[in-house]
Amino acid sequence: MNTDFGGLKPSDSVSTIKGIGPKKEKAFNDNGIHTLEDIVYIFPRSYEDRRTLISISDMKVGEEVLVSAKVVSKRSNMFSKTAPLSLIVQDDTGVCEVVFFNGKFLDKLFDIGTYYTFYGKASKNFDRNQLIHPQFAKTGSKDDIRGIVPVYPQLSGISQNEIRRIQRELKPIYQEVEDFIPKSLQESINLASLQYSLENLHFPTDGKKVLSAKYRMVFSELLTLETGLMYIRRGESDSKEAVSFSCEKGEAFANNLDFELTEGQKNAWQSIKTDLESKKKMNRLLQGDVGSGKTVIAEMAMISAASEGYQSVIMAPTELLAKQHLESFKKDFEKYGFKPEILISNMDRSEKKRVIEGLASGEVKVLIATHAVLRENVVFDNLGLVITDEQHRFGVNQRKTLSSKGEAVNVLVMTATPIPRTLAVILYGDLDVSQIRTMPKGRMPVKTSMANSEDRARVYGRVRDELEKGRQAYVVAPLIEDSERIDASSADKLYKELCKDFSDYNVALVHGSMKQEEKDAAMEAFAKGEVSLLVSTVVIEVGINVPNATVMVIENAERFGLAQLHQLRGRVGRGSEESYCFLITDAENEIAVKRAEIMCQTTDGFEIAEEDLKLRGPGEIFGTRQHGLPQMLFADLSRHGDVLEKALESAKQIIKDDPELADPDNEALKRRVKAMFGEEIELAL
Ligand code: ADP
Ligand code: MG
Repeated sequence: MNTDFGGLKPSDSVSTIKGIGPKKEKAFNDNGIHTLEDIVYIFPRSYEDRRTLISISDMKVGEEVLVSAKVVSKRSNMFSKTAPLSLIVQDDTGVCEVVFFNGKFLDKLFDIGTYYTFYGKASKNFDRNQLIHPQFAKTGSKDDIRGIVPVYPQLSGISQNEIRRIQRELKPIYQEVEDFIPKSLQESINLASLQYSLENLHFPTDGKKVLSAKYRMVFSELLTLETGLMYIRRGESDSKEAVSFSCEKGEAFANNLDFELTEGQKNAWQSIKTDLESKKKMNRLLQGDVGSGKTVIAEMAMISAASEGYQSVIMAPTELLAKQHLESFKKDFEKYGFKPEILISNMDRSEKKRVIEGLASGEVKVLIATHAVLRENVVFDNLGLVITDEQHRFGVNQRKTLSSKGEAVNVLVMTATPIPRTLAVILYGDLDVSQIRTMPKGRMPVKTSMANSEDRARVYGRVRDELEKGRQAYVVAPLIEDSERIDASSADKLYKELCKDFSDYNVALVHGSMKQEEKDAAMEAFAKGEVSLLVSTVVIEVGINVPNATVMVIENAERFGLAQLHQLRGRVGRGSEESYCFLITDAENEIAVKRAEIMCQTTDGFEIAEEDLKLRGPGEIFGTRQHGLPQMLFADLSRHGDVLEKALESAKQIIKDDPELADPDNEALKRRVKAMFGEEIELAL
């Protein structure tokens, strides 16, 4: 065992610490902690302020107090091993009883007449002040419990006091722990050093210093994240130019619609038009709530492209959605002499061949597609614009593949998941962002309420009321079929029940494992109004537009995330009639209830997205693995948007100056990036 810390290195095993034998070592390892550096990187969750001693006479029930008092008597039952130990202690102002249940073994630690410092929650036993199981140390001893005391995350098999002691022992190695932020950057933005931060986080003396230490940690995590992301995209921004074309025809199309564009649509269009008419490559994210009218904007851009001789494609995440786009595009485009074509997996072979040939020859100007368009055999003649609808359903690579189908293509990605600005920065880096935050006129917010399963009869009574008025309704269930393992409603079972209860109406079923033709038939019947009640799983989540539908019932609402609930609710409230959304849930789990409450409080997708971020954290929203969004200790994307933007700026500069991170000054940062991103970036670096 090594006790000479002068020779210890951060990479040494935890077993080199005095007092850590094989058993403790295993406990650390089980917690994922192997090296001394790992321990140094276990940071306090919070701090207890134990700086101010109070007098016993000032103790208030329920408050955490720090007192220093002399032991005047000790009492425990000599004959019982598990008896409590009761001490009477006193200071100049009063007397207090200190109790340790099963504490007989502590007896020998207390000497009568000696002062001890106690920290704990004050209580009363009749009139007497009491402290039950306080922390304690001999007043003035080296183990003194006074000061600002770090509270570490709970690690199984390792106590708070142990981890505090070990942290004290590791102080000498701080100088050796690698500070991965380049010195020059640290100086230019006046950032605290790693050593300073470690010291002030583990051994805080002053709130301000802790804050600058925390800021540094937040910044360094976000810098690592952004450097990694900028590194991955380092080649992307090379082609800054793209084809440009006039947007006159698209604007004329909008002027001939039977509605006026909303303010939000007009603003978004202005930016898109500016992009398209300039040589600068468009790289724009269009965010707008469900029903905010993004499709019209896409059409305006595509009509402009076609009129100027360029091909354009809009890629949708489902065949259902692609087909729906096709229907509305046909009407709109044919006036301008263009025939939109569709390319999806499930289509007639000869049709597919015809479309693919038309794309290669340039004859097909306007394409609506699913990911089927990404296949290698699909080539374009002169692609000028690609649009991704419901962008969040596609991965970064799919987006890239699509835009690589042309030489200098303008890119527009649209999403109804209004992600917070911070996440847009992370996911899309250098995309310009347009938001549509206004809804078309006359659109009323969907009235949303929560119900438990006992209220189901009442809810379905309301559904019936709406159907009687000639409206239509959706019922969504989390599962396709009943499951033995999962206690939740299935679309299958609901469908059977509702067929009985609503035998005087047409009821249809749609779910993911049905044949495509069956799904389409059911959806089409619903869109035409032949079916009144549509029972489904989340397959209707994206983009479907049936303005006559005014009710959305979501069964087992606790099984859906906020973004999903918001999307589902967006299926209704698309016409001029008042619409309703019922969230049926018996869940008592805090997050589920909170989600439902948020849904009842607001219909603003941006607000919902912010709340979602707070509730779930970014990792879960994007699937940490898929997007390589690593767990971060200090950075909280729902709070640190401003730091993120600064980190992005620095990361961009770093990658601009040293695209391969080959500079010795960036070596440590590069290692850190690798550690954060894991294998994914290992391949790239
Ligand atoms: P999303 O943004 O969810 O894709 P859509 O583009 O499908 O929304 O638009 C929803 C509906 O609103 C469509 O029927 C569309 O024709 C209509 N719409 C779009 N813009 C307006 C507007 N400015 N005024 C009235 N209705 C509009
Ligand atoms: Mg849409």
